[in-house]
Formats: sequence, C-alpha cells, structure tokens
Amino acid sequence: MPDFLARADGALGDRWLKTAIDRTTGTARTKRAAIVGQWPDFAVARERGKAIKDHVVQNLGHYLAEFERNARASGAVIHYAETSDKACRIVVDICRKAGAKSVTRSKSMLGEEIGLPHALEEAGIERVETDLAEHIVQLAGERPSHIIWPAMHKTREQISELFRAAHADPHREETAEAMAASARRHLRQRFLDADIGISGANFLIADTGSVCTVTNEGNAEMTTTPPRIHIATAGIEKLVPSAAHAAMMLRLLVRSATGAALTQYTTFHTGPKRAGDLDGPEEFHIVLVDNGRTRMLAGEEMRAMLRCIRCGACMNHCPVFNQIGGHAYGGTYPGPMGAVLTPIFDGLTHKTRDLAHACTLNGRCREVCPVDIPLPTLLKGWRTASWREGLEPRTMRAGLGLWRWLATHPRLYRPATSLAARALHLMGGARGRIASLPLVGGAWTRHRDMPVPPAGPTFLQAEAARQKAAQR
Ligand code: SF4
Repeated sequence: MPDFLARADGALGDRWLKTAIDRTTGTARTKRAAIVGQWPDFAVARERGKAIKDHVVQNLGHYLAEFERNARASGAVIHYAETSDKACRIVVDICRKAGAKSVTRSKSMLGEEIGLPHALEEAGIERVETDLAEHIVQLAGERPSHIIWPAMHKTREQISELFRAAHADPHREETAEAMAASARRHLRQRFLDADIGISGANFLIADTGSVCTVTNEGNAEMTTTPPRIHIATAGIEKLVPSAAHAAMMLRLLVRSATGAALTQYTTFHTGPKRAGDLDGPEEFHIVLVDNGRTRMLAGEEMRAMLRCIRCGACMNHCPVFNQIGGHAYGGTYPGPMGAVLTPIFDGLTHKTRDLAHACTLNGRCREVCPVDIPLPTLLKGWRTASWREGLEPRTMRAGLGLWRWLATHPRLYRPATSLAARALHLMGGARGRIASLPLVGGAWTRHRDMPVPPAGPTFLQAEAARQKAAQR
C-alpha cells in the first residue's frame, strides 16, 4: 500500500485521533464563521489581500531589495538561502560561531519545512520549543499535525500524561489552565538560559526592514528578547510593502486562523538592540529562504500558492483532513494546501501522487481561503500531471479505461448502471447501508458503511422519462 494510503488507513482506525480532531476543527469552524459573519466587508478585504499578495509576488525582486536595504540599515544581518540545506547550514553556523549550547524556538512552519529541528539536533545544539503546542509535540517526539494547532492530534488526557512525565513540578488538576501553568514553569528558566532565540516571520515589512511575528502566548517575544542573538527564518513570499499592508493581511490571517479579531501579541522586530535600549538581542540575523518559491513564481500553474498566509482555514474545513488529521499527509504542510505544496517541495512521485486524490473537490477550502487560492483547481492540476507522467497505478488506469469505454456506449451504460443500483439496494437490505463491499470496493468500506443510492429510477432513467414527457 502506498505511504499516504497506509498512513490514512492507520489514522482512520485511531479513535482518539478522531475525538481530538473533532474538538479542535469544530471549534475553529464555528469561531471563524462567527467573526467573519460580523465583518460585512470580508469579501472586499479578501480581494484586497489577494491583490496585495499578487502585487508583491509580481514585484518580488523589487521588494526583496527594499527589505534588504532597510533591514541592513537597521543593523540586521541578511542571509539568502536557495535551499533548505543551505538555510539550516546558515543557522547552525551562526549557532556554532556564537558557541551556542541551547536555543529556544518559537513556532515556525518554515523551520519545519527546512528541517531545522533535525539540523540543530544533529549539530548537538539543545532545541527548546516554546510554543505550548510545539512543546507538547517535542515531548511526544512527534511532528506538528496542523499549521496553527501543531498538537491538535493530542487529547487533553494524553497531554496530561506527557507533562506529568516531563515536568519537574507538574499540574495537580487536569484542567487546561493548570497544564498551561505547568508548561510555563517548565519553560521559564529555559527562556532565560538560551544562547540564541530562533523565530519565524508572519510578514516581512519592506519599507522598514522589520520582521513581524504574531502569537497568542507571548513566546515569540520571550524567545527573541532575552538571548544575545535572534535569528529569524522566513520564506521570501512573506514580504509585504509596508506596515499598513501587514495590518490589512493580519485582519485576514487572524480571523481565518483562530476566529479572533486579533492575536494577543503582534511584534515588529526592527534591527538589534540600540544604544539605550534596556533589552533585545545584540545580533539580529534574518535568513531569507527560497526553497522552491522562485520555481513556483516561474511556473504559472502553482504561482497562486505564493499567496498563502498559512492560516490553516482550508484544513479546518476539509472533510478529508477532518477524518485523517495532519500526520497522514506525510509532509510539513497537511490538508488541501499541503496536498498542493508537498509535490512542489518533494517532487511529484509515487510517494506524493496520492495527495491530490485526498480531496472530494467540494470547493469549501477555496471558499474559506482568505486570499482566494483555487486549491481544488491546483489539486486537479496535480492529478492531470500524475496521469500524464504514468504515476497512477495500473488498476486505476484500467478501471478508468473501462468506465470511459462504458460511458461512451450508452446502450450498455444505461442497463449496467441500473443493474448496479439494484445490486447495491439488495446488498444494503433493510438498513440501506452496505457494511462491506467485495474486491477493490473493500477499501471503501474498511472504515465506513456505504449508503445505497436513492430508491427509484436512476438519473439516466429519470432524464429519459423527462425528455419523453417533454416531447409529448
Ligand atoms: S491555502 Fe488559503 S486557507 Fe489554506 S492555509 Fe493558505 S491562505 Fe489559509
């Protein structure tokens, strides 16, 4: 069984996982719907957000140069990394040069994308994840399963167990507040002891050279302020022309991501500590990462993905993600946006081709995307490419070939579909549901029942009757 299907199969059999996903994405959908409902100009803002991102992507060279100039003027050191390996090397080199033994990290999907946690560990540098959910994922020795809620696959009961095993002074009551306090006690001294703080970036502000981070826990500020060195890693698509543009994008990002009007902490980091400043890092490094982004820019088909602001709304509303969770996707980015991005980063191969099929094409992801990325169209593009490159399994090609032959022979197609509908009704019996289909259909019913088609004539029979009646 190919990797994705095997992982999805495992996830569908995990009862705890389904409970955990339902608790998180259900709340996210309700909160987002409520706050977007209170914003009459949401559609206008969405168009504006899309236009801002498209404008920056079309003028990427210009805004990169402007950002670099202003960031350097503020005292920051700029590094460019074409690949994930190079980005990791730059960060590890800075750590080694500074003699760093321990680094704190605030949540950054770009860091996960380039494999930074692994690179730091390989270099023998202690990595302390400071985002509460990332802390949970680190204790569990796992990877994030959602780009906004990295530990959404864990139930409160599982987290409680992890904290009791790892924290010196763990919670006594199993409440969210008590557990958060336990993590705070555990992390506090680590913030103060770290040699270097590593953050991501939600936006890069071209006209000031600032890096903008948003969090709800204040851990980005605790990560970047006490240590002597701050390193920010950012994808080059994070650029916006000015702080006003960032504010516009923030309204879309936060509402779509958490269903709140604003995050608790929004910080613009501009250069290192200046004379007279009471705190802040003495060195500020910004690593600008390409890792396939200019390739996306060059090819028209996937360029729209550069608009993505990593809000996670598409996955919260995806019926497939809601069944299997994030780990089944196998890459850094799960859900619909991950199914589009993973083949861009890892190539379209036998390992990644199934991701494009993890979609019902219901279009909900595009509807909720705050920058109107046509995710279903992009996924269909991957399906076409996979077919053209001969990556689909022989059974699928043969099955579709047979169906095409039948569909182009209506005299056979009509009785065959009518016969199939009757057979399904018989199999469904009084329950009206089929618990187990034979042969290849068995995969469909392994984790669910199949409802039988509605009683009465098939669509083709009803249409033929309608046409006949119209002719009378
Ligand atoms: S594709 Fe759209 S909805 Fe999904 S994470 Fe990106 S911006 Fe958000």
